[in-house]
Amino acid sequence: SNETVILDSAGISRALTRIAHEILERNKGTAGVVLIGIRSGGDHLARLLRDRMAQIEGEEVPLGTIDITMYRDDLGSRGSLPLGKTEIPFPLDGRKVVLVDDVLFTGRTIRAAMDALIDIGRPKNIQLATLIDRGHRELPIRADYVGRNVPTSREEKILVEFSGDNNPVEVRLVKP
Ligand code: 5GP
Ligand code: MG
Repeated sequence: SNETVILDSAGISRALTRIAHEILERNKGTAGVVLIGIRSGGDHLARLLRDRMAQIEGEEVPLGTIDITMYRDDLGSRGSLPLGKTEIPFPLDGRKVVLVDDVLFTGRTIRAAMDALIDIGRPKNIQLATLIDRGHRELPIRADYVGRNVPTSREEKILVEFSGDNNPVEVRLVKP
């Protein structure tokens, strides 16, 4: 297979810094904002966004993670089985929830994540940040904050490589 580098580690870092600024600008600071990363991948990016937002504003927003592996509607009709390792140790009521994922594709993961959040509490709103939007949506879902739009074929894959200490090092487009 043949691979093209889409973002190197400096490129990922710049994209995350820009998105941190965009989140703060859109929400007029950190008040009421919480970040929830989707496992796996989105959780590491959410932590990096939290750190950047803290550097910029001097406030650490609450950070949670959600695992919707058991929630996706295309995995069969299992209803709302218990979630995987979901850790949201703070109330969502009235909060501005920024979901964070590494790659946005059909939108089904985000739909499931929104279902799960709404089961947990009543956010004021839900926003979406993704490092890569690779297109092919099957639901009316779009991201508010995008690192990079990457047109792909269905057969292509985006590879987001993380280091052993969970820092993103490279994003590559992998052709079959
Ligand atoms: P969707 O539910 O939108 O079809 O797919 C998005 C979810 O699947 C995300 O949580 C993402 O991690 C994963 N995903 C889908 N396509 C890709 C891809 O090309 N590369 C990577 N790394 N993850 C993907
Ligand atoms: Mg992922």
